Amino acid sequence: MMYRFRFDELKKDDPAYIQKVENINDLKRRKDTQYIGEGSIFLLVILIGAVFVYRATRKQFRLSRQQQNFLMAVTHELKTPIAVTQLNLETLQKRKLDEQQHQKIISQTLEETSRLNELSNNILVSSQLEAGAYELNKQRINLSDLVKQCAANFSQRFPKRNLILSVLENIFCEVDDILFTMLVNNLLENAVKYSPAEKDIQLKLFSKDKKTWLLVADEGPGIPANERKRIFQRFYRIGSENTRKAKGTGLGLYLCKKIAEDHNGRIEVGDHTPNGTVFTVIF
Ligand code: ADP
Repeated sequence: MMYRFRFDELKKDDPAYIQKVENINDLKRRKDTQYIGEGSIFLLVILIGAVFVYRATRKQFRLSRQQQNFLMAVTHELKTPIAVTQLNLETLQKRKLDEQQHQKIISQTLEETSRLNELSNNILVSSQLEAGAYELNKQRINLSDLVKQCAANFSQRFPKRNLILSVLENIFCEVDDILFTMLVNNLLENAVKYSPAEKDIQLKLFSKDKKTWLLVADEGPGIPANERKRIFQRFYRIGSENTRKAKGTGLGLYLCKKIAEDHNGRIEVGDHTPNGTVFTVIF
């Protein structure tokens, strides 16, 4: 409209008529280019914004679904050991059992309470670490002894599982022993949960390239490559709550990663030959 008005204003008998028409056309072209440029930039900004909003919403959605799964799992995980413990104690109170049955019930109850203890430790420590409220208590300790102690507890809790232990003696490190014990126990527990009962589990501690290596290997089905990053996220569990057989909360590996990082290290997951999973902590 504005250009038409300018054209109308021109006098055809003006000697500079052609020049002026050219100028108006030139101005129009430049303005058009400017509008297209600005429009494209706005569009791009809106698109980038939309992508960010979409990703944030998707992440939030995934997290809230995982949290729901976590709540369901925790409720279940809490109820089972409490119910079993209660039943066992009632049995002991009401019936006269022979020594063998008595011992069996006591060790079953102990196993349930230690699972309950482990679960509440995982929940407590992970929320403290997440909030930055956990005070690391690092001390120079004999890590070889700590790992051997974890192995001894493991063999007591899972006497039927074959644990192949290979620990280099007298590796001294600055660690928080409570957290480090949790790290080893979580990896061992996963190896038990996610591999067949008759298969071996390996636990190694050694030094290489001036670093300390902790390795837990099992002969289970392994972890698909596309899941390997996500398994370390808080509450993340492979599959859905309905199809999973193993009990869990999705906190174990999240904690392991946090603990490794708090010890200036990292955790990696790889394939075990011929099949299975190897978790390696290098620090
Ligand atoms: P969970 O409480 O489910 O065991 P984790 O954080 O310890 O939570 O593990 C996350 C997921 O990683 C598990 O749900 C399981 O699917 C997978 N996973 C962990 N360890 C192993 C393993 N040794 N072999 C196969 N899958 C594993």
